[in-house]
Amino acid sequence: MRGLVADMTNLILPRGCAGCDAPDEVLCPSCAALFACVVPFTPPADGIASYACSVYKGATRRVILAWKDHADAECDRALSGAMRVLASQVTRTVTGGAMMVVVPAPSSARSARRRGRRHLMPVARSLAAWYRSMGVRARAVDALSVHAAGKAVETMGRAGRVARVTGSHINVRDAASVRGCDVILIDDIVTTGATMRACVTSLEAAGGRVAACLALASTPKYAVSAA
Ligand SMILES: [Zn+2]
Repeated sequence: MRGLVADMTNLILPRGCAGCDAPDEVLCPSCAALFACVVPFTPPADGIASYACSVYKGATRRVILAWKDHADAECDRALSGAMRVLASQVTRTVTGGAMMVVVPAPSSARSARRRGRRHLMPVARSLAAWYRSMGVRARAVDALSVHAAGKAVETMGRAGRVARVTGSHINVRDAASVRGCDVILIDDIVTTGATMRACVTSLEAAGGRVAACLALASTPKYAVSAA
């Protein structure tokens, strides 16, 4: 019911920018520009290109939280665009090579249920479509799942409810979907890099070659300062 009311409100009242509330914009030009950066972060393993579209603070933080935790699906297009621009700058588009698979970092089943969707899949599909437009065989695969090892810790953050799963295990659902493929791993926010490291370990154990890790944002502490 609350969702229906929100939908009806959106029909009547024009929305504001997800980052700064500027009127009549899903994402205003100045907030969109914040996602047009190339922010290196510490790679989960040697030789993996690891970059984020933005630093996670201020307006970028508000945009990502609105998009991720409040099911602001209208941001899909802008954030997917930012990820495509980043990929065009930091990944190679070699045609005739191995199949490329774009794999989103997993959400716990509980988080996906709460959000009502796998929020990174539209971004993964958009990125795979961009690689295909460049002549690369590519597809998006929701290959990873996370299983809490009985230690789910829930905290109430200022920006809302944050569920943190400790001691989690990340599994590849279907090894055949990544075996022999070049993998582009994507995530929304990189904080400590622990999730990405676990994802890379699982993907490589399943026979995938992780070529790049791309995120929408990296926390300032984790970003490698550009020389
Ligand atoms: Zn804005």
